[in-house]
Amino acid sequence: IYILGIETSCDETAASVVRNGREIVSNVVASQIESHKRFGGVVPEVASRHHVEQITLVIEQALREAGITPGGLNAVAVTQGPGLVGALLVGVNAAKAFAFAHGLPVIGVHHIAGHVYANRLAGGMEFPLVALIISGGHTELVYMERDGSFELIGETRDDAAGEAYDKVARILGLPYPGGPHIDRLAHEAEESVKFPRAWLEDGSYDFSFSGLKSAVINYVHNANQKGETVDPAKVAAGFQESVVEVVTGKTVRAAKAFGVQQVIAAGGVAANRGLRDSLAEALGKEEIEFHVPPLNLCTDNAAMIAAAGSSMFEAGVRGDLRMNGKPGLELLGWTAENEQKNR
Ligand code: ATP
Ligand code: MG
Ligand code: FE
Repeated sequence: IYILGIETSCDETAASVVRNGREIVSNVVASQIESHKRFGGVVPEVASRHHVEQITLVIEQALREAGITPGGLNAVAVTQGPGLVGALLVGVNAAKAFAFAHGLPVIGVHHIAGHVYANRLAGGMEFPLVALIISGGHTELVYMERDGSFELIGETRDDAAGEAYDKVARILGLPYPGGPHIDRLAHEAEESVKFPRAWLEDGSYDFSFSGLKSAVINYVHNANQKGETVDPAKVAAGFQESVVEVVTGKTVRAAKAFGVQQVIAAGGVAANRGLRDSLAEALGKEEIEFHVPPLNLCTDNAAMIAAAGSSMFEAGVRGDLRMNGKPGLELLGWTAENEQKNR
């Protein structure tokens, strides 16, 4: 089974061909980061325009690198949501046009399901499992009893972890996106500033990052007022310690409570070295297997969309040309009924 994946939910225009849901045949990502950097974040209108310029070229390149013609494909899988509406529409319309022109089924994929299924392309998924989804827009713990089933265990009550990383980076004067810079500084630091831990109520699997973000803002503000210099590495290290400790703690507790043998991580912040090391160590102690994709499959790409799309294809899920981009798409299991709901 060959699936063409297309992803345009945010600021990367991406297309990929994946074989049998597990093997990357081609994986093309055109990043717009350089265009958004000077604004310190993604500008939706700029993103949409870039997608329009890039999408055809990126799809052609993915097919060329895969050495496959449209006739060799079984379906087109595209990110249907969540994301920026103008950005999603470019991918969804390109996918529908391509599918219509070549008589292929089109499958609408939830972006976060894509992040999760990146693990199928690297290391594999053994059910039941707990997935930690930690990205620019999401921070969630999800229990997956089997392929294509998602039960939300906990989620952020305010900012996503990646959002907090990017905001703290901005306060420290680091370039966008800030996550990798904070990660690097945190590793260089010899000392760290002590910031609070947002454990929330006993037993809660929810997250909160806005208090931590405010604590960092206050720390920098107070230092500036007193005329003291702020050591960005010390702040980065303290911030990262707080995030890593709470995320690791809650993930391990969820894995034990749900009795799973495997935990997978997904999303851009899963590229964080501090978090990867901490999860590997803590889960290792509990003899729970831990998988996280390589860095280029943690951040946005279309191979992960094709991987999730393959699993949906195998489950018999098919979309049609009425499909539309949905910025608030819900993460639902792979069933025909849910496909109707999401349309
Ligand atoms: P979502 O997937 O929730 O829709 P998104 O697609 O914008 O959001 P991703 O592309 O998955 O998010 O991840 C981008 C985020 O990951 C950014 O916030 C970025 O700062 C963060 N990030 C990337 N690398 C690292 C790292 N090494 N440490 C921490 N954060 C990182
Ligand atoms: Mg991105
Ligand atoms: Fe993403």
